[in-house]
This record gives sequence, C-alpha cells and structure tokens, in this order.
Amino acid sequence: MKKLIMILIDGLGNHVSDKLGYLKALEEDGKAVKFTLMSELPSLSRPLYETILTGKTPIQSGIVNNKISRLSKEESIFSLLKEKGMTTAAVAYHWIHELYNGPFDMMRDIEVQDLNKNINYGRFYWDDVYPDSHLFSLANKLIMDKNPNFLLLHTMNIDDVGHKFGGLSKEYENKTYELGFYLSYFIPQWRDKGYEIIVTSDHGMNENGNHGGYSKLEREVPLWILRDNYKYCENTRFKQTDIKKLCCDILEID
Ligand SMILES: [Zn+2]
Repeated sequence: MKKLIMILIDGLGNHVSDKLGYLKALEEDGKAVKFTLMSELPSLSRPLYETILTGKTPIQSGIVNNKISRLSKEESIFSLLKEKGMTTAAVAYHWIHELYNGPFDMMRDIEVQDLNKNINYGRFYWDDVYPDSHLFSLANKLIMDKNPNFLLLHTMNIDDVGHKFGGLSKEYENKTYELGFYLSYFIPQWRDKGYEIIVTSDHGMNENGNHGGYSKLEREVPLWILRDNYKYCENTRFKQTDIKKLCCDILEID
C-alpha cells in the first residue's frame, strides 16, 4: 500500500523557495520536480488548509477567514482515507484539528489516538513559536510507531517570523534556511521507509509582514513532488485545488 507525507510549510512564499537547497539538489538529480502555484483567495491559512486538503476553494467550502472554527463540510484527504480503511496522521496547528477532528481542547487534544476520527494519530500545537524542529521529531516518531498511510506535517515558524519581520526580511529568509536542514535530515529517512513526499505552502508573505490579499508575494507558493517515478512533467499546470487529487493519485485511490 502506498504511503505519503505532505509537508505543509505555513507562509513560505515562492520568493524564498530557492533557499531550500536540498530540494533543489533533488530536482537537479531527477528525484523531485517543482511547480509554482498561485494560492486561492483569500490568501489566509485556515481557508487554504481546507483548499489543500479538500480541493475546494474558500468560496466553495465557506471557510473564508481564520475565525471560522467549525468542522469541514467537505470530503478531505483525511475523511476519504479513513473511509477506505487507511490510517491518517497529522503533526499540525490546532486549526487542522478543528477542521477535521472537531473542537480543540488544549487539555486533551495535544495528543490524539483514535481510529474513529478523521485524523487517527495527531500531535497538535497552538503556539506559533512552537519549534519546527520538534515537529519533525514528533512526525518521525509517529511514522516509526504508527506507519500511517498519510501524514500531514505542518510547520508554523516561517509564517510567524514573516509576520514579525516581513516577507523580504533577512529573518524570514534565515528561518527558511533553518527549515532546510530539517528537510535534508528527515526526508532521506522517510523515503527509505517507503514514503512518497510532497512539500508545499498555503500562502506567501508580503514586505509588510502580512498576507490575505492577491499580490504575487502573498499568493505565489511552491509545490515539490518527490517521487522516483512521477508521471507529472514540468509543464503540468497545478492549482492549489489539485493537491488533494494529486495525493489520491500518489496513494493510488479513486
Ligand atoms: Zn500568517
């Protein structure tokens, strides 16, 4: 059975994607292919988590701002896989829990293990400065212990630094380099365990440290597909609404 990890880097604009040299090395070695997408609108996190995981635009899903903290009404990658008897996992911001598992209680839901939930195994955080480094280790532990068919790893530090210093700041750029280390440390081990991997972002970051609008800095995001035998040529035009279908294709489910 196929297995997939989606690494969702919150707030990583395409304009700093060239700082991720390890991914570029994979591209040059024919082991990854990169695409550039324009995020759906508004270019805000919660609406775009829903877009990426369900294939619906914010207008279609009704999740049009960050304050709408209800369960998703759409079929998500998580609900689809659960229906097919496959196992799901997430190491993600608590908004992901709210969208797919229900109301988030910080006294209870920091760790989730429940095969009746859309996300079977979860580690959820609510502080934007919770270190990305620890998220990679938590994800690795779930991969080793639970071997899920699908795992979402969702980082927040780049978005956080972008808000504080701006999307053209050295701090934002340096946070991206920092993440690059963790990608290069963990991805080879996860590939060895038989995981396909995609890396993408929800939205970018403008020079004033914000996003939500339709400028290129706010909307343009990268998508890497790491596969030995990918069938997508570099000319393929991907939209953010295609990512769910891409995951289903990689997992070989309808
Ligand atoms: Zn943000």
